[in-house]
Amino acid sequence: MSIIKDFLLQLTLMAIPIFVYFIFITERIKSHRNRTMIMSVFWGLSILLCMSFPINFGQNARLDLRIIPLLFGTLYGGFWPGVFLAGLVLLYRLYFGIGIGFYNTALVLLFSLPVLLLYQKSFTSAKKDKRVKLAAGLSFYYCVLGIAIFIVLRGFSLENLRVQSIHLLYAVAGTWLFILLYETIREIHQLRSEVQNAEKLRVISELTSVFAHEIRNPMQVTRGFLQLLDTHELPDDKKEYIKISIEELDRANEIINDFLSLGKPTHAHNERVDVGYQLERVVNIIRSFGLTHNVHIKSDILENCWTYANPQKLNQSFINILKNAIESMPNGGLVWVGCSFTEENIKITIKDQGIGMTKKQLDRLGSPFYSLKEKGTGLGMMVSYQIIHSFKGEMKVNSEKGIGTEFIILLPRIL
Ligand code: ADP
Ligand code: MG
Repeated sequence: MSIIKDFLLQLTLMAIPIFVYFIFITERIKSHRNRTMIMSVFWGLSILLCMSFPINFGQNARLDLRIIPLLFGTLYGGFWPGVFLAGLVLLYRLYFGIGIGFYNTALVLLFSLPVLLLYQKSFTSAKKDKRVKLAAGLSFYYCVLGIAIFIVLRGFSLENLRVQSIHLLYAVAGTWLFILLYETIREIHQLRSEVQNAEKLRVISELTSVFAHEIRNPMQVTRGFLQLLDTHELPDDKKEYIKISIEELDRANEIINDFLSLGKPTHAHNERVDVGYQLERVVNIIRSFGLTHNVHIKSDILENCWTYANPQKLNQSFINILKNAIESMPNGGLVWVGCSFTEENIKITIKDQGIGMTKKQLDRLGSPFYSLKEKGTGLGMMVSYQIIHSFKGEMKVNSEKGIGTEFIILLPRIL
């Protein structure tokens, strides 16, 4: 009976940090760094409790699930949380005294932590299914390593092997269960915020499409009369006023255009599109715009990159990103445009040598009206994100202040 109680206690200790994270932390604490720090503390506590209340198999066999908080802290947190948690395990084990058990723990950590850290990057970029497999695999590796080192240090005995095998099964099954739980809750959270965003966009687009036409007509009339006013006899300063008025009207018109392209369902007009061919066209169109900014565009584009999308929308998102890349280099420079494919994806890269963005600026990229430009609308990136998402694609941005920015777009490939 008491073994079952111990088993259940260990499972509870794993579940608590996960629920705390999703209920209290994800939405309230915005900074990624603070979130990671708080979670490291929680996983640390979970490790300490796990080791304090192990499962007692009689004799000397005491087992616990410390691998799960260690694994989760490292995979979701990264290098420093991993080192911190491993250090914590070691220090706490030291508190129980130096003996074979301590050396066992130290050796297992020595051989497993580097492997966890090695796989951490691919874990972060993986999708749910792969994450689950990866975590369960790493947990399996940790336990097998534990058994091997145990046998080396204490010699082989059938009874020990039996206990260790139970531990292995229990730890791997536990890891699998909790990673599935974690990832499923994460998916639900993400879905919820996507639905909220989509709802916001729907309201915006409904309002704008109603107003846009009503506003555009008087604007066109005003613009026409301003042009008529612009005669030769007018003094230079008045001419300047007219020029500014027309420019501002055009800008307002641009904002309306950007708004109108928001939130509209796109799948109605989707078709088979060769992304390479479209990108090539966009690059040719935008080349002259680049040259007026002293920016040259180098491209390495493969054709026959088929995806399912709306070509006009796709081109619009490329144009928005390329325009930003060109505008980010006030003194000119180079933009690299690439398009290639893998088995599953089409990968488009757009890279500039411009002013770059700080971490804070990157976080705000794509929010409505976020612009650092004097005449910017702050809608271009928001529209681009929306378009790419509507084609089930992803957009990643790497940027370094003063060095440049790289946009990577992945779209699902069809044959
Ligand atoms: P806008 O171009 O009208 O300002 P966007 O939504 O297109 O609006 O871009 C928002 C902001 O993101 C820009 O004002 C700029 O500060 C930043 N940005 C976007 N792309 C880049 C880039 N390639 N390099 C540097 N900053 C960029
Ligand atoms: Mg822009």
